[in-house]
Amino acid sequence: MTYWQHYHTPTTVTDALSLLRQYGDDAKLIAGGTDLIIDMQNGAHAPVTALVDVTQIDGLATIHTETDEGADGDAAWVVLGAAVTHTQIERSPIIQEHGAALVESCSVVGGPQVRNVATIGGNVAHALPAADGTIGLLALDAQVQVCTLTGGTGSGGNGSPASEGSLTSTWQPLLSIFSGPGRNNLGGNQLLSAFRFRQRQPRQGSAFDRIMRPQGIALPMLGLAANVTLDESLNRISAATIAIGPAGPIPFRAASAEALLTSAPFSDDLLTEAIIAAQQQAQLRTSRHRASREYRHEMIAVLMRRVLIRALARARLEA
Ligand SMILES: Cc1cc2nc3c(=O)[nH]c(=O)nc-3n(C[C@H](O)[C@H](O)[C@H](O)COP(=O)(O)OP(=O)(O)OC[C@H]3O[C@@H](n4cnc5c(N)ncnc54)[C@H](O)[C@@H]3O)c2cc1C
Repeated sequence: MTYWQHYHTPTTVTDALSLLRQYGDDAKLIAGGTDLIIDMQNGAHAPVTALVDVTQIDGLATIHTETDEGADGDAAWVVLGAAVTHTQIERSPIIQEHGAALVESCSVVGGPQVRNVATIGGNVAHALPAADGTIGLLALDAQVQVCTLTGGTGSGGNGSPASEGSLTSTWQPLLSIFSGPGRNNLGGNQLLSAFRFRQRQPRQGSAFDRIMRPQGIALPMLGLAANVTLDESLNRISAATIAIGPAGPIPFRAASAEALLTSAPFSDDLLTEAIIAAQQQAQLRTSRHRASREYRHEMIAVLMRRVLIRALARARLEA
């Protein structure tokens, strides 16, 4: 079975999106191929005329820090390209320092061979609500950079010269690109080029953990990541972000639990209340291959306790 006819390795975003435009609906972006090729092999995705590989695009596989000067003061970010692999994330001193939840979530994806080629952009674009790297990014309140090519002509039809069109890029909240399980809302003229999240502040810590079948591959029964900031007393959480997957059709933020955790000094009772709030807000379902709704409900409590305690310990260490 042939799954594609042409394989392109553009080195700019404009060239990648021009190729997509040239093939219309008959081309697909590919990064590590660890989701897409398997989907093609098992019939979940039809063969295409062309694959457009994003991994050779300049700057898409790098990790760096940068500072934005905005009206509200400077914002210090960690920026990672969409074609950064899980192995790069696992080994990056920058992400180890600023995003422990992301390191922990990416370092459990598949085995080393998968992590060496599978990218964070592919993990997010595949849009599964339980995708591990996505849950790690969501807890860090990450933004995604979406590039769009508008106008221009692919072939310069009627004897006229081809024109490239105009490339724009916007930073938007990570959750804004998801439209349902396995569905993102990117158009055929768009791709993900990068992700960014705030550098870690004093008294801030994050963590991730998941529950997996012993022989399980790919997706967990449940994954959970949290990012917390303590106030100066070190007894009260001043900001909390909690991401859980799968707990709905798209990656899920436990907003009511987050609000509860900042409403009073931290205690075991407060944690119990926050767990109940997350359990009530989560939309859990039974999956034939992974776990029942009831089991996932119980595991929210186990993971939230485990992950928050680890994130809080890290926040205190960094005080
Ligand atoms: C054995 C095995 C174990 C796995 N274990 C796990 C696991 O434990 N946890 C987990 O979360 N996942 C797991 N996966 C799934 C997979 O490895 C990850 O989701 C991976 O991050 C996908 O990245 P990729 O680069 O391979 O994506 P690809 O397969 O190349 O692409 C996936 C989708 O994203 C699109 N895409 C890729 N890059 C971009 C971009 N820059 N902009 C827009 N669209 C883009 C593609 O068109 C395609 O639709 C596993 C897979 C295998 C085969």
